[in-house]
Amino acid sequence: MTDNSNRKPSITTRVAQALRFIEAETGAVVPSIQPAATYARDENYDIRKPYFYRRDGNQATSHAEAIIAELEGAADSLLFASGMSACTAVIEHLPTGAHVVAPRVMYHGVLHQLQTYAANGRITLDYYTAGNLAELAEAVARQKPTLVWVETPNNPNWEVTDIEAASKIAHDVGAKLIADCTATPPNMTRALELGADISFHSATKYLNGHSDITAGVLSVREIGPYWDEIVLIRKLQGTVLHSFDAYMLIRGMRTLFLRVEKCCKNAMAVAKHFEGHKHVEVVHYPGLPNDPGHEVSKRQTNGQFGGMLSIVVAGTEQTAIDVARFCEVFYPATSLGGVESLIEHRKTVSGVGFPVHPRLLRLSIGIEDADDLIYDLEQAIARAVS
Ligand SMILES: *Cc1c(COP(=O)(O)O)cnc(C)c1O
Repeated sequence: MTDNSNRKPSITTRVAQALRFIEAETGAVVPSIQPAATYARDENYDIRKPYFYRRDGNQATSHAEAIIAELEGAADSLLFASGMSACTAVIEHLPTGAHVVAPRVMYHGVLHQLQTYAANGRITLDYYTAGNLAELAEAVARQKPTLVWVETPNNPNWEVTDIEAASKIAHDVGAKLIADCTATPPNMTRALELGADISFHSATKYLNGHSDITAGVLSVREIGPYWDEIVLIRKLQGTVLHSFDAYMLIRGMRTLFLRVEKCCKNAMAVAKHFEGHKHVEVVHYPGLPNDPGHEVSKRQTNGQFGGMLSIVVAGTEQTAIDVARFCEVFYPATSLGGVESLIEHRKTVSGVGFPVHPRLLRLSIGIEDADDLIYDLEQAIARAVS
């Protein structure tokens, strides 16, 4: 028999067991929720570490962070009350006058936040087209940025940016690179291993997977002074994830591998079905061999292609809105990464001025029966064009 004495269970096993959690006092295999806002000092009037006050965090949040750090291969992970509060902490920690290079098309909330800081004179901002490394290199050489922002695959076009190549471009000028890989959670993309300095996920999405909390997480390869600043911003702004939401996140993450596998399979079936469809002009999905991001995605997303895709329907903008309205299985709701499928007319949601095709429908594919999803879109399209 082979000697397995040093064998460590795989990441799939470790995440399913929430890092083999057994509560010391009780033997409970599920972590408890500690709602305290304050913690008593000890008999010497010293602070009992690690928590002092609610804004420092709590044990369920630390536990969820440990699971994500393991998924990411990170030195440390930090959970926030939303993805936006995590991204805002990164923008906030930049020195006044810092240059940032970001995609022209990306998650609208983060873009809005970057543009607001730029409009207020706190940072300067320059753009590149997501997935276009030549444009990125050119913007980086011109701006000598402090931070390069990558979102891959990006919202809502699912263009793929090569994280490894983008990291080299950033590091050549001494910039740090943050990778928003919300659409491909860390069981698919391990951004830190590909060279990113900070990996960001809206944990509202796949990590939690049940559309019942908001959360955001930053993970880093190395701990340094800039990380200490981000930790301090979370503490002083009180944007730490609360214990109950951290508990929900841990519960959600236990099935991450299962859920993501099914979402990816379903998304591939939907994408293949509607590619070349009479009433669908384009299917944006990196899993399709003809998609411009296919080759990089194959390397970068662990052989799966994610549960997110967009379709551009033929007809008018109203046709697209009607398809979203007429669905009976897909929910006409924003967000993504949950077990239930969502359809969204992105232009209605992104706001004025955001560059998005007026007939684009963003689909977050859940874990339902793929045939039900395909049938639902078919009937909605048929009604919308009739
Ligand atoms: C949802 C999302 C965010 C923002 O996260 P919230 O949890 O909604 O605050 C950032 N980036 C991407 C790609 C997202 O999908």
